Amino acid sequence: MPQNRRDFLKTGGMIAGSALIAGSASQKLFATNYVKNRSGAKMKLTFKPYTLELKHVFTIATSSRTTTPVMLTEIEYDGITGYGEASMPPYLGESQETAAKFLSKVNLGQFNDPFQLEEIIDYVDSIDEGNAAAKASVDIALYDLVGKLIGQPWYKIWGYDKDKTPNTSFTIGIDTPEVVKEKTQEASEFKILKVKLGRDTDKEMIETIRSVTDTPLCVDVNQGWKDKEFALDMIHWLNERNVTFVEQPMPKTQIDDMAWLTENSPLPTIADEALQRIPDVVKAHGVYSGINIKLMKCTGMREAHKMLNLARSLDMKVMLGCMTETSCAISAASHLSPMVDWADLDGALLIGNDVFDGTKVIDGKVTLNDRPGIGVVKV
Ligand code: MG
Repeated sequence: MPQNRRDFLKTGGMIAGSALIAGSASQKLFATNYVKNRSGAKMKLTFKPYTLELKHVFTIATSSRTTTPVMLTEIEYDGITGYGEASMPPYLGESQETAAKFLSKVNLGQFNDPFQLEEIIDYVDSIDEGNAAAKASVDIALYDLVGKLIGQPWYKIWGYDKDKTPNTSFTIGIDTPEVVKEKTQEASEFKILKVKLGRDTDKEMIETIRSVTDTPLCVDVNQGWKDKEFALDMIHWLNERNVTFVEQPMPKTQIDDMAWLTENSPLPTIADEALQRIPDVVKAHGVYSGINIKLMKCTGMREAHKMLNLARSLDMKVMLGCMTETSCAISAASHLSPMVDWADLDGALLIGNDVFDGTKVIDGKVTLNDRPGIGVVKV
């Protein structure tokens, strides 16, 4: 039975050492097996729909829901499996049906080497427009696979410091003052809380939370403030109440108003709805102080990593966000987190039927593990 690649990598150092003493015959034999395995092995993509059950009803400005449809993917290669996920909240336009249609067109069998990440992901991206979450589910599985083949977690491959991960924010949903107070008290583990604004109850919501805690807040207006003077007044008011930054305060189409607001705002402004992929980072420069990168919007880890570097080179702030997701997609994103200003990676904490164990939130902080790849195991 041919030695598989993982075993080769495990024993590689020992073989190289013994070869110095015993000559190169054994080294050659193992090297031959390694090349044969690599050229013979094929990547196989499989996928299955799964429904996330939310612990609480999730309310945003336009709708409420209790479930999120996802697609779980696997790429198997040479006895090793990489895991991926597409999370598809309905308002973003993808579904299990569109993802299944897209993923059934993906033919990874044409590539001999999973390490050709750029080429493979370019091909996946070229299959069709849109389908950002479905594309991310292939990207994440491929990154997990490659990390496992190397035997290292991605934060290490990228050269990041595990100790520099940020605290994650935790969202306090819009509700009656009694429920908001209760939820705020339950969230005492978190060092920063996120509040959804953009309704006519914005000030009451902040005052209710401030009546029970001084924990720093960040706010997400979801394009809710249409007038720039009103938006600036609100930001000044929030600035006096220990708010750290303001996400998507105005409609993404009001670019000039938004640039004026950022120029005058005492708090950083972050683009979310206004931003999806790499070209949007350049467009956001000079309009917002920073960007919110989400794997499901930007097609996965490869593009997220590029966006992070681009934003940094433009001296912009970076936030890392998520959808409701299992620990698979959350863990994938978390490997970038040592390099961001703020993380909003509470997605897996909101669901009752996670199928992975991976990056955890410990005492409010994003906490990476040292498993290879994206660091997840099935539970
Ligand atoms: Mg947002």
